[in-house]
Formats: sequence, structure tokens, C-alpha cells
Amino acid sequence: MEELIARAVAAALEAGASYADARFTSHEDEEVRVKNGAVESLRSSSAQGVGVRVLAEGAWGFAATSTLTLAAVEEAAGLAVRIARASASTQKTPVALTPVEPASGRFPAVFTENPFDVPLAERVELLLDCDKLMAEAANVALREGFLEVTHEKKYFESSEGAQIYQEGVETGAGIECTAVAPDGSETQTRSYPSSHGGQTAQRGWELVRELDMPSHAEQIACEAEALLTAPACPATVTDVILESSQLALQLHESCGHPIELDRVLGTEASFAGTSFLTPDKLGSFRYGSEQVNINADATLPGGLGSFAYDDEGVPGQRTQIVREGMFTGYLSSRETAPAIGQTSSSGAMRADGYNRIPLIRMTNINLEPSDWTLDELISETKRGMYLCTNTSWSIDDKRLNFQFGTEVAYRIEDGDLGEMLRNATYTGNTPDFWGSCDAVCSADEWQLWGVPNCGKGEPMQTARVGHGVPPARFRDVRVGVTQEEEDGE
Ligand SMILES: [Zn+2]
Repeated sequence: MEELIARAVAAALEAGASYADARFTSHEDEEVRVKNGAVESLRSSSAQGVGVRVLAEGAWGFAATSTLTLAAVEEAAGLAVRIARASASTQKTPVALTPVEPASGRFPAVFTENPFDVPLAERVELLLDCDKLMAEAANVALREGFLEVTHEKKYFESSEGAQIYQEGVETGAGIECTAVAPDGSETQTRSYPSSHGGQTAQRGWELVRELDMPSHAEQIACEAEALLTAPACPATVTDVILESSQLALQLHESCGHPIELDRVLGTEASFAGTSFLTPDKLGSFRYGSEQVNINADATLPGGLGSFAYDDEGVPGQRTQIVREGMFTGYLSSRETAPAIGQTSSSGAMRADGYNRIPLIRMTNINLEPSDWTLDELISETKRGMYLCTNTSWSIDDKRLNFQFGTEVAYRIEDGDLGEMLRNATYTGNTPDFWGSCDAVCSADEWQLWGVPNCGKGEPMQTARVGHGVPPARFRDVRVGVTQEEEDGE
């Protein structure tokens, strides 16, 4: 493989590239899904190939091949250079890359139990056990569960001398169930450990053991059924405490996307729009309260957004995004970093497979812990709501005005967690909302969540990113807004 990649880089330089990198990627994936007591799908897929990215006449070119021969990679390299030359004819300013020390090294996957060694029958049986427990516990119409394991190998070389081999193994799992009222007037879903993809991490089968899904199956089934007759979340303004997986998605949408520097500079808008965090705000804009400290950290063990080197050969690193509420940093690339006065990339370029160019993607975007326990936070909240597990999200193209829905909410009265509420929503404006954050829980309650389905680019690329988040409290938040009320205003 090393020979093939070295040849691709050399061929690009021979064809006239001023810079070239080549990346071999091999991706394997196995997924089991069960639904209502039966296997719904068993899927296994694999893909491998080489992508060649070049600069010629100051413009980018990219081409890829799944044929792993010297002739095929030479052809891809030549095509990438021709595409760069054609692109140069419309480019006003030549691309310049910030320097990076050419790295070399081998970085193996980190896990305790190889999830690919767990027999398929055992994976199916675990999900069917959960299904049975949900079916016995409550009257739920739809029961689902999934387990997914992936293995990626990458080898990167650049014309500057980088030679980097990296491997990653990921394991993901989740269960959920949906209850429907007898007259069909109400539908309620509960999931574990979170919605939209359960929990996924760069870990092995030990993650599935720790999640212990069977011991949570009964509870989510009972809660889904109970939600059918629970009171609806009232429309009011109150204090809210967000559970960590919900806050993870809040962070993803209202901080992770608007700090992607390509969105900020207007060169990317697909799926998540542009950004209100314009470069003039760097270092001077109050993003949140003094309780709010946010970092982007590609070095967290097990994180879906962790790596040794990004797809430009830049080391994985930690960047302060918000310090005591002030906006301090972006996710950048070698090309974009100078636009914000930086002399090096923050190391956030990743591609979805061998045949896609790297884009600026989230690493692990984390809310730093403070010193509260969740129990203290609830007991020191006079009136409020505890909102758990995302069901829906909506946010405008600049990432300012948002509305989120959660699977369940609990009323807080005089410091006690009270009745369950259904169809909870909350709405706000990004800096006002983070500005209302007055308490953040401690490292004991901090949890690293994996988001395996972040979409960006045309053609669409799916990134696997992480968010380490403790629960936190926000004052005077508007809750219980329904779509009809919004439309009526
Ligand atoms: Zn996303």
C-alpha cells in the first residue's frame, strides 16, 4: 500500500502539481437491526480506494480510484492535476497552505474487546432480549434496536514528506420503543441511551457491555406508555436543566456548526447553512455566560471525533472555542487558518471515505465541566423543567434561532423532580440561551457522546463527531411552544 500511495504523490508532482497528498482508506461496517421481535436487517459493507488531492496553478484538484494498481493511481493523480488546472482558470487568488511539520507514525485502533469477534448470533440475541423485555413491560407498538461496528484503516502521504498510518474501530448501539394511544391520537417514543443513533464511540464491545441495554429496556417501554397520558408541556418561561445527550445536540447545532470556518467564510453552506460567528467577533463576542467554557478536542480517548492526524496530516489538537463566555476559536484547515490570522490549522479536515475531499468537520466539541451535581442543580431550582433525550431540532441558517423537542420532561417544583410531561419543546436564540447558563455539572456527570450522522457537503459526506457534555441549567427559557403558536405570531 505504501508503494501505491508514494507513486500517486510522485505522479501528481510529475504531472505539474506544486503540492500533492494521497490517502488510502479501507472501511468495513457491520450492522444488525431488530424490529418487533424479528431481525429487520443484517448489513455488511466494505469500501477501499485511494484519493489524490493536488494543488496546481494555485487551485485544488481531486480524483479517486477503487482500483488498487500503480496504473490506476497514476491515472487518478493525472486527472486531479488536470482538474486543478481547469479550476485555476476561474480562481482569483491562489490557494496558500499554512505550514505543517511533516509527520510519520503508526496509530493503531484502541479497544479492549474486538467487536468484530463477537459472533453475529450473540449480537442478534442481545437485541432480541431487549425487544422481549420491552414487549413484556408495556404496551408499545414499535420496538427497535441496533448494533453497528466499523473498522477503518487509513494511510496518508504528502509531497511534503508526511507518512501516517491510522486505524480506528467504532462500536455503536441503541434501543427504542414507541407507544401509540388506542385511538391513534398520541404517539410517544423513548430511547436508550439516547435518540438518533444510541451511543457510538471509538471503543470495542466493552461499550455494549457498559451500556447494559437489557437493564434499561423495561424502563423505556414503561415511560413511552406513561407518556401517552402524561400532561403536555405547558407554554411558559421557566428555568430548564438539559440532560447531557440533549445538551450534546444543542452544542452540535448552536456551536459546532457555526465555528466551521468554511461556513464562516462563505465557501460552504450545505445542510447547516453559514454562521453568525463572523471573524470580527473572534476574541470580542460574548457567546455565553461566564459559566460557559467550550473546547474542540481531537485527542479525547474514545471520541468519535478523535484522531492522531487529520486528513491533511495536521495533528489532532485541542482548541479553546469559548472561554468564560467569550468566543475565542474556530475549527480551521491549512487553507482557511490565515483568514483568521492563524499561522497553523486547528486540525479539523476529514473526508468521508477515499473518494471524497476533506472538509472542515467537528472533532469533539465539548462543554467543560464545573462543580455542580445534578441532584444539587435540581434541588436548587425553585421552578423549572428537566428535559431529556432529543426528538427534534430546528435551527436557522445562521445558527441563531432554534427550537428543540425532547422525548420527556419532568417538572421541577421547589427543588423536587415531579411529574412527567410529554411533547416538551424549548426555543431560544444562541447567544441569549448560552448567556442564560448559570450552572454546569461536574466531571462526574460529564459524558462523551458520539454523533455518527453529521451531514455536510455536496456530494454529502457523513462525519462521525463527538460531544463531551455535563448537564447544565439555563434561566428563563421559553418552553412548550407549538408550531401553531409560532405560525400565529
Ligand atoms: Zn451536524
